[in-house]
Amino acid sequence: MAVAGPVRVRLAPSPTGTLHIGTARTAVFNWLFARRHGGQFLLRIEDTDRERSKDEYTANILDGLQWLGLQWDGEPVIQSARIAEHRLAIAQLLASGNAYRCYATEAELTAMREQQAARNLPPRYDNRHRHLSPEQEQAFIAEGREATVRFRINDDTTIIWNDLVRGEMRWSGADLGGDMVIARRAPADRIGDPLYNLVVVVDDAAMAISHVIRGEDHIANTAKQLLLYQALGSPAPLFAHTPLILNQEGRKLSKRDGVTSVSDFRRMGYVAEALANYMTLLGWSPPEGMEERFSLAEAATVFDFDRVNRAGARFDWDKLDWLNAQVLHGLNPEALRQQLLPLWKAEGWAIGGAAADSTWQLDLCALLAPSLTRLSDGVDQAAPFFRRPELDQAAREQLDAPGATAALAALSQGLPEGPLEADAAKALLETAATAAGVKKGVVMKSARAALLGSLQGPDLLTTLTLLHRLGEAGPRLAGVTG
Ligand code: GLU
Repeated sequence: MAVAGPVRVRLAPSPTGTLHIGTARTAVFNWLFARRHGGQFLLRIEDTDRERSKDEYTANILDGLQWLGLQWDGEPVIQSARIAEHRLAIAQLLASGNAYRCYATEAELTAMREQQAARNLPPRYDNRHRHLSPEQEQAFIAEGREATVRFRINDDTTIIWNDLVRGEMRWSGADLGGDMVIARRAPADRIGDPLYNLVVVVDDAAMAISHVIRGEDHIANTAKQLLLYQALGSPAPLFAHTPLILNQEGRKLSKRDGVTSVSDFRRMGYVAEALANYMTLLGWSPPEGMEERFSLAEAATVFDFDRVNRAGARFDWDKLDWLNAQVLHGLNPEALRQQLLPLWKAEGWAIGGAAADSTWQLDLCALLAPSLTRLSDGVDQAAPFFRRPELDQAAREQLDAPGATAALAALSQGLPEGPLEADAAKALLETAATAAGVKKGVVMKSARAALLGSLQGPDLLTTLTLLHRLGEAGPRLAGVTG
């Protein structure tokens, strides 16, 4: 797709909650499009809902974007700091006759909606104060009524735009709910708090946004916003509406689905690269010949709206797990250690002696890496290296099996004073089997049970050498438990 002029896109999150996966996916598409076209990816914090906006949510959003590798350009724009501009635009719309004051009370509007409902009509404002005479306005003011400001939306207007994802879009003015409130109720000599559709248009115009890329739940807003651009005499950006993220039942992913914020995924042990990769696939398909596993930088070389689907994108945990495993398996031991060490520390494990040594930690990471799906597996599987494990049922049975005691005794007697290399450990298993008069399999299973408390776990020889370096192999083989 050819793009004319400089690309300037934005993410406009409201800090009324933590960074939601849908917002993060919108961020990914904006970032990819900006990078593809050498453009700017801007950030605007839409904090005009002062009661629900919180600084901690802004911090969570910025932190989540940075963690995902979605660095924005320049300083974030803080919407609440621009309220004077928003009011100016409303004043302009009032002066040009595109907007007017509506004195209808909440009670009147509720009664109007009830009547509509009784007649099975969709709720809409009936434009009742569109043509008040100055005398009627004075009478309302004299009554002490406050006023909202409404923007005129003519029923017979048709709004058409060429959506970069969905193609030609048409909306009839009649389907937009009547004249739209753009400023909250306030005394009639003032302009109340400006509302979403108005502020977004004023800010997008001021930031010279070239493309608005956001979820398809904003399509009706786009129709209204295009009318506002026209009335304000500002050139409108192009629009791309991305498909919704659906849960496994095919319904819009919502808070009820539990895990919805980027920090939840992070806490569950997903790594940024895998989550960013997965979110890119939520609604976009890579071109023929490109693997599904890619970095954001790789996707940015080919990203285009032509390959964004119109249908909702169903969340697929198996694919996310698969991608996460791919990323973890591909990490070098040092990179994995950087990720795991803070988690190990957070468990409150005493990481002392040889376990504090980075080469020992790197060897442990190399041992665990191939079996990890989530980082949390790297905590569960590392646990027996930091604390003596409780024996599970199968391990207990193994230790009671014939030959186990003899095998472990032979093994622990054969442990050297000094370091135990992998080759020597292998030879030790053989000699222990011979000395105890049991099969090698019995030695191995018994050793596993005594060292890890379970018959499952990583490579036994490496486990043995790592625990020996901690001085832990001997006591565990001798049956010393936590
Ligand atoms: N603050 C709006 C939201 O979070 C922004 C929507 C838009 O991108 O215009 O839904």
